[in-house]
Amino acid sequence: MVAQVIDGKAFAAKVRAQVANQVAKLKEENGITPGLAVVLVGEDPASQVYVRSKGKMTVEVGMNSYEHKLDAETSEDDLLALIDKLNNDPAVHGILVQLPLPKHLNEDLVINSIDPAKDVDGFHISNVGLLGTGQKSMVPCTPLGCLMMLRDHHGSLSGMDAVVIGRSNIVGKPMAQLLLGDSCTVTIAHSRTKDLPDVVRRADIVVAAVGRPEMVPGDWIKEGATVIDVGINRIERDGKNKLVGDVDYASAAERAGAITPVPGGVGPMTIACLLANTLTACCRANDLPEPEGLTA
Ligand code: NAD
Repeated sequence: MVAQVIDGKAFAAKVRAQVANQVAKLKEENGITPGLAVVLVGEDPASQVYVRSKGKMTVEVGMNSYEHKLDAETSEDDLLALIDKLNNDPAVHGILVQLPLPKHLNEDLVINSIDPAKDVDGFHISNVGLLGTGQKSMVPCTPLGCLMMLRDHHGSLSGMDAVVIGRSNIVGKPMAQLLLGDSCTVTIAHSRTKDLPDVVRRADIVVAAVGRPEMVPGDWIKEGATVIDVGINRIERDGKNKLVGDVDYASAAERAGAITPVPGGVGPMTIACLLANTLTACCRANDLPEPEGLTA
């Protein structure tokens, strides 16, 4: 079997176009422009790139982008004061604090100071609890993007066996909750899992979120399974820098029914879902119907 490639780049462009459409409608019919505030503390180069591209795409879909760049030495009190201001600003519907934060700042405290209704990353403890109990919440962007691609490919996921490799709070755990919400039978595998190859071989859906280059070889993949590769790993091969996933793409593509490439799979969906979440937060804040197909 040669796998169908799930084109995350094209899918993300479709999601952004859908968001842009809804934003235009909101402006025209309700006079509302959704706004996303992104807070960056310090000068981490990767974070700077992410924040820049988030800002650019926010503006491209017609939303307002508010960037707050703070000094690496910013005190916790000053950061909390800024978040409080954004929480109370009616023009701001989504707030994202770029992680990681400098070591002197308490990440949990900072994230939990964001108004849960504006927490477009879905990391606030209230949103984690709401998702875990199957209630309406803000859903972390990367797993939401994975879910959208899976629903688009399969229609219903009901009754499918899903294995999520990785149990982080930002990908693995919320991914498992979302798959459970769509009635999959879910296994969460992690660094202590026994017989990982056997666990993965049972799965109709494999979501790999580990951060280890090409650790899942093709012979772990059940014939016809759908493989979602969240991993983004920078490696050097043949003297060149290369991005690879957590799955060995070449061998997995020979057995899978469908697979996401790296780059061009899950990656582009993350920012698209951030924009979708900002739109959802804006609709909820204004008691308007939520955009269809852009939420969990
Ligand atoms: P993390 O380091 O927080 O978690 C990794 C998880 O993998 C842990 O739960 C650990 O138990 C598990 N693990 C480690 N070694 C293992 C092994 N040998 N076998 C099985 N499980 C093992 O990582 P994260 O933040 O969840 O990110 C995972 C990967 O996804 C990284 O490559 C990251 O760059 C990528 N990522 C991509 C996006 C995106 O937008 N595409 C977003 C977030 C993270």
